[in-house]
Amino acid sequence: LNENIAKAEGYLARFKENTLGHYINGEWTLGTGSETFDNTTPTDQSYLGKVVAATDEDVNAACEAAAAAAAAWAATPGAERKKILHRLGDELEKRAEEIALVEAMDCGQPLRFMRQAAVRGAANFRFFADQAPEARNGLSLHQDQHTNFTVRSPIGPVAVITPWNTPFMLSTWKIAPALAAGCTVVHKPAELSPLTGAILAECAEAAGLPKGVWNTINGFGAVAGKTLTQHPAIKAVALVGDSATGKKIQAQTADTLKRLHLELGGKNPVIVFDDADFDRALDAVVFMIYSLNGQRCTSSSRLLIQSGIKDKFLAALKERVANLKVGHSLDPNTEVGPLVHTGHYEKVTSYFEIAKTDGATIAVGGKSLRDEMGPGNYVTPTLFVEAKNNMRIAQEEIFGPVLTAIEFDTEEEAVQLANDTIYGLAGYIWTANTGRAMRMADKVEAGMLWVNSENNRNLPSPFGGMKMSGIGRDGGDWSFDFYMETKNVCIAH
Ligand code: NAD
Repeated sequence: LNENIAKAEGYLARFKENTLGHYINGEWTLGTGSETFDNTTPTDQSYLGKVVAATDEDVNAACEAAAAAAAAWAATPGAERKKILHRLGDELEKRAEEIALVEAMDCGQPLRFMRQAAVRGAANFRFFADQAPEARNGLSLHQDQHTNFTVRSPIGPVAVITPWNTPFMLSTWKIAPALAAGCTVVHKPAELSPLTGAILAECAEAAGLPKGVWNTINGFGAVAGKTLTQHPAIKAVALVGDSATGKKIQAQTADTLKRLHLELGGKNPVIVFDDADFDRALDAVVFMIYSLNGQRCTSSSRLLIQSGIKDKFLAALKERVANLKVGHSLDPNTEVGPLVHTGHYEKVTSYFEIAKTDGATIAVGGKSLRDEMGPGNYVTPTLFVEAKNNMRIAQEEIFGPVLTAIEFDTEEEAVQLANDTIYGLAGYIWTANTGRAMRMADKVEAGMLWVNSENNRNLPSPFGGMKMSGIGRDGGDWSFDFYMETKNVCIAH
């Protein structure tokens, strides 16, 4: 731990000493305003540096830079874009340790997961880089007297707005296909976790991206984010964030009729039937809510457990949850780190009382660890049992290491409970019965379902949610569909 802290301090020193500004048209700038905000670490609330809040003028400058660079970047051959994006992957790999350490300090996510996130970021650029040369390809559709063909072209400058949970990995997942498609980008990282967004922009510059192709602005959602989504030069907005933010952005972009991809919240069920592989299901249930501090959109925060194995499963689960290691995010042994910031810590801990008021039982945890562990945002991994699906702990996205267990008897009841939520992002089904797995996969309302598996990401597969979990999909060609316009050309014979 001490060695990691020393290394992280080395990487963080420049952020502490220099105010972090914006990267606009290939230059770092402190912008036109005087407002700044302090960035702190959730490990102990200590200072990580000052960040400038973008003004409308700064946001406009970034959008104009992206607009000015758009034609040349769109006309850059796909093979050339591919080369630059692979170089960007190289830069990220070179700085993977720095990215992991800085992100762990900025967000509180345990280093063991952040190391993987850094490597996955580079893989995201390489995956979409390889598709850049073919991205414009379309279809040929024959009629008796005509031939139709389609071509795709980049939609233009796009806004990418990212949240504070695994901000580095999520930013790469959105920005890589935009650049591969030939779009220019204005990125707004979350105000609570701005540091790896800055490192990303530095890597883009080092990889040789032309000026204006990648711009990063720091600041608040209600000001910088809002202006960005309303700028007429921006043709599409990719948001990863809260459902409430998705609604606001839908309203903000109505006047300029922008294309939207909204990846929003979830209250994802993991459904464990009596005939499930007990040990694998148990591992997956623990991993999918307590890893990444439960601050993960696809976390399975509702356990629907069939009555036949309920007692045995919950007994084993309690033991596992009670033994999870909570600690400093840079401790290699830590499984659950501090929550991202104090406001979020207060939200998560408020559900401990809400659970009791609603009539559920706290089987494990339900406590702040600040008395024992100092001022960081540490909480005990928590398991609520004897819960009903209409309770707030089963309906609201808590976004912490907190699991609500609900019993069911029949397959029909499992479907009904799984779908009794405003969300529809992800679901996990554990059963040895293939026919049942197929029926459940058909009926559960979620954009992504995993059967007898924890969350496994396949980059060519579609990613996204239904209901209040969002609109649109990305991944593979879905990303290019989002970032490109499709034009049909019809020729008479
Ligand atoms: P948030 O919605 O508060 O913020 C996300 C981003 O939106 C930030 O950069 C913020 O500054 C910006 N923003 C806020 N208001 C805005 C506005 N009016 N106009 C433009 N931009 C605005 O979310 P958060 O708290 O940072 O992140 C957690 C949320 O993200 C959770 O709900 C989680 O489920 C969700 N999430 C979803 C996915 C997914 O793939 N579905 C993935 C990760 C996180």
